[in-house]
Amino acid sequence: MENVNYLAFALPAFFLFLFIEYQVAKLKKRDDIFKYESSISNISIGIAERLLNLFIAASFYQLFYFIYENFALFQIPNNWITWIALILATDFVWYWYHRLGHEINFLWAAHIVHHQSEEFNLTVAARITTLQALIRNVFWCVLPFFGFHPALVIFILLFHGIYSFFTHTQMIGKMKWLEYIFISPSLHGVHHASDEKYLDKNYGDVFVFWDKMFGTFQKEEEKPNYGLTHPIKSYSFLWQHFHYYLEIWEAIERTNGFKNKLKVIFGSPAVMDQDIRPMLEKKWLPNKDNPNYHFRYKSYLNFQIGLSFLLMSVITYYFDSLSSFDKYFGTFFILITLINCGALMEQRKWIYYLEYLRIISLISYVLISFGYAHLIFVIIAFFIVIEQIFRLSIWYKSNVLKINE
Ligand SMILES: [Zn+2]
Ligand SMILES: [Zn+2]
Repeated sequence: MENVNYLAFALPAFFLFLFIEYQVAKLKKRDDIFKYESSISNISIGIAERLLNLFIAASFYQLFYFIYENFALFQIPNNWITWIALILATDFVWYWYHRLGHEINFLWAAHIVHHQSEEFNLTVAARITTLQALIRNVFWCVLPFFGFHPALVIFILLFHGIYSFFTHTQMIGKMKWLEYIFISPSLHGVHHASDEKYLDKNYGDVFVFWDKMFGTFQKEEEKPNYGLTHPIKSYSFLWQHFHYYLEIWEAIERTNGFKNKLKVIFGSPAVMDQDIRPMLEKKWLPNKDNPNYHFRYKSYLNFQIGLSFLLMSVITYYFDSLSSFDKYFGTFFILITLINCGALMEQRKWIYYLEYLRIISLISYVLISFGYAHLIFVIIAFFIVIEQIFRLSIWYKSNVLKINE
């Protein structure tokens, strides 16, 4: 419970640092650092991760204890040497978890999301998916297995999370002699770059020596171009999360033989067919290159993001005392709101139906909470009749989204 409360209080700190970074960027006249759509999608992904993480974190903590109590290789005593050893061990595990995340297709499918942003600022630190958090937790299991006490592991992981938050900024730059020991924002910026010489470099989180040891170190020379080598150019919440899984699926379909199909899943992203992504984009993002694209409704979008963040903070704070129904409804409501935000930036036609779904589920939640669940069908029927009579969907598409069919 204490842990959960603490996390809820840490959430506004994110916005405080973000605000400071934004103001400093403005002072330095660096308009290239923030882009509205990109920041919104980074924050949306972060909200979903923090929210869904609430459901998996406790199980992983239990798993750490289970491994420690039943399978630990050693009983490592708790003293200051252990602390140093654990800090080094977590960073070593991180290095390999991160490196494999770039070298193995099915792990890259989760990690790619962190690299989609073409801007590099503190919002990118939030750009982590739940799948990514899940994979990372599996890697962390190795620590209690070696005999580090789970409570200590959980504490050190918090420190890791805080450290990597501050390496996602262009406001600090190089850190002189400290870069002989630590990963600086400049060094992590290199990791986020798509320039040839910066590719697959600087996997470390806190310390720099793993990269030097395993031949993946690169210091910042020319100014990096941030993002993927082949940018996805989409702010769709769903597409950003799942496009690479679809790409793997397509690559599997194109491959003959079970062994070769397995090779796609466990193989390197570097050998994926380069025409798969454009082909899938054509199929799934039909109006991606819409020449009439002009984004409006900023305040509506800001309101939705603010509301999602607030609701996520409340769920985090009260997570242990909320009923399952409240938790699942809150999560569902936030997720469709985030999907809505991404779809709004891309002016998707189906956003209209998503708005309906959101209104109906909100009314249903109220009705169920007050014991009138049977009235839900009346509400749905009412909306169908309204749609049939007034043809609101057509009006919405042509007047709100300005899509002419
Ligand atoms: Zn990475
Ligand atoms: Zn990063």
